[in-house]
Amino acid sequence: MQTLIELLHNKYRSLSTGKPASYIPELAKANAQDFAIVITTVNGEQFCAGDFDKQFTLQSTSKPFIYGMALAEYGREEVISKVGVEPTGEAFNSIVELEKRTHRPYNPMINSGAIAISSLIKGNNLKNRESNMMSMFEAFAGHQLEISNDVFESEKLTAHRNRSIAHLLRHFDVIDEKIDETLDLYFKQCSILVDTKDLSMMAATLANSGVNPNTKKSAIPSKYVGDVLSLMFTCGMYDSSGEWAYSIGVPAKSGVSGAIFGVVPGEFGIAVYSPPIDEKGHSTRGVEVFKEFSHECNLSIFRKTII
Ligand code: GLU
Repeated sequence: MQTLIELLHNKYRSLSTGKPASYIPELAKANAQDFAIVITTVNGEQFCAGDFDKQFTLQSTSKPFIYGMALAEYGREEVISKVGVEPTGEAFNSIVELEKRTHRPYNPMINSGAIAISSLIKGNNLKNRESNMMSMFEAFAGHQLEISNDVFESEKLTAHRNRSIAHLLRHFDVIDEKIDETLDLYFKQCSILVDTKDLSMMAATLANSGVNPNTKKSAIPSKYVGDVLSLMFTCGMYDSSGEWAYSIGVPAKSGVSGAIFGVVPGEFGIAVYSPPIDEKGHSTRGVEVFKEFSHECNLSIFRKTII
């Protein structure tokens, strides 16, 4: 494993396609050279290559976790009544993302779905809700996490599209009147700081039925892990989810900070960080690493060869 990820790191570190996201000004400051790959097994063993302790913000890689939290707190039926489970084939920030008849967002892996899920975070006030949310992310990572205030402010200032999505959700009664609080919780979860080792550990927690391999504490009940993984599989890579399922075949989620994580249930979690992203919002080096890694390790659930 260690040899393989070092090989992939060496092979793809000179890849120069893509650019760090710039629509959130603070993200444009990322160093395009940063590149890390980390595998974490369900036993907590880690294999690391590159800049594995360089921090970045979760961005949309936060979405599967916050969805897991809502499932744990409200149960499947109530969560599904708010947010559907269908892929859209649309970009991550698409405005046309509400189902025609129910007006639910199509799924929790796109912005509208994650904003609707954020409105469900429990607590008496913003501070309290934020702290509940952070406890859940920390249970996945296995230690305390911080929020980047600079990214949070930068995102908040430029979030006209997300704001309009939230108002549309309010119009259709999908979220309550605390629109600004919900948006703050959404921007804050996108601005949580992790390094590639943390994200890989969070992925391994999903691979390990929701139990953190190090702390042995449960982050979400195991019965909801399949819900999270199936949505990552069908919707986690936005409008290239089909291509990802076809060529890579493992549930994964990407974020515009250049992070991608994947989960091989019962075995390990994989995280790759490299800020330059393609036009679909995926880390260009990350996509190549996942393709080759999946092929080398025969990971696709559809391409298992019987030995
Ligand atoms: N915070 C980002 C936004 O809502 C997340 C997008 C992403 O990572 O795909 O615009």
